[in-house]
Amino acid sequence: MNRYATFPANPAGTGASLRPTLPFFERTYEHGGMATTDRQATTLALAHALSAAERGLAVIPLSRTKLPALRSPHRDDPDPAAPPCHGACGRFGHGVYDASTDPVRIRELFAAAPWATGYGIACGLPPYHLIGVDLDTKSGTDSSAALRELALRHLFTIPETVVVLTPSGGRHLWLTGPPDVVVPNSAGRLAPGIDIRGAGGYLVGPGSRTDHGVYATAPGTGDLAPAPCPVSLLRLLLPPPRPGGLPAPPAPGDHGRGLVQFVLAAHEGQRNTRLFWAACRAYENGLGPTLADPLTEAARHTGLTEREARATIASAARMTGHHP
Ligand SMILES: [Zn+2]
Repeated sequence: MNRYATFPANPAGTGASLRPTLPFFERTYEHGGMATTDRQATTLALAHALSAAERGLAVIPLSRTKLPALRSPHRDDPDPAAPPCHGACGRFGHGVYDASTDPVRIRELFAAAPWATGYGIACGLPPYHLIGVDLDTKSGTDSSAALRELALRHLFTIPETVVVLTPSGGRHLWLTGPPDVVVPNSAGRLAPGIDIRGAGGYLVGPGSRTDHGVYATAPGTGDLAPAPCPVSLLRLLLPPPRPGGLPAPPAPGDHGRGLVQFVLAAHEGQRNTRLFWAACRAYENGLGPTLADPLTEAARHTGLTEREARATIASAARMTGHHP
């Protein structure tokens, strides 16, 4: 018996006001036990991919091995040291950079990859800024127990959210992140058996078929929207401050000077993440309103605009349960 996530009829034209009443992924149901030919698998994968895209999730076709189905057009390029192309050449085959929510483009991608039997959902992109918590069953570790222990130790609850069951018995929890924070991919950094899919990563979408079986939403979770990542978990996912020349976490009583220094020392590429991190700590320590201006000023020194800085601080305030 195979399980497939269903996909709803196209609600185009029903208007945005009806959107929230649609389930995020419709419930799963049993199919007959007929062998699925590759062509059927491709058609199903495309249908599921289009359904995901309708919800704002950018997708790419995947092969049976869970890898992007389209090979890089640059694989034979003479200069391996050339800067990587992320799609500027206009061809397909740039992995997760091909991901799209445009049904026309998605059909083109699948037409170029008629061997695809699944689809990947790009993480870290608007509107959900998806973060995937991949709980593995391989390696003989109990990754679910490890996550529960992390939750106890760092005082967060794992929210009710979309859960995708993998053919090997693993689970993917879908969480959303704030728009201005880059969560990196990691494997086993949080705990053995827990991988994180963040910016530049992708999750195998429900309804995908691989050599080992079909991915499906866990009963009762397909209707949910992905829940926000708890802030203490989010902090565990962010890159640890680099050693050397960085201030220690602020001691109570230094009025947040350490946090301002921490933001001032940011290099391009980590400015928003550092500002977010510092602003979270400021709000948690009751210094949010006091430090909003100094942190904004520090962020402007690193090259962010005032507007960017204020938006990041506001999202840190929201994530920690405060009013910006
Ligand atoms: Zn290219």
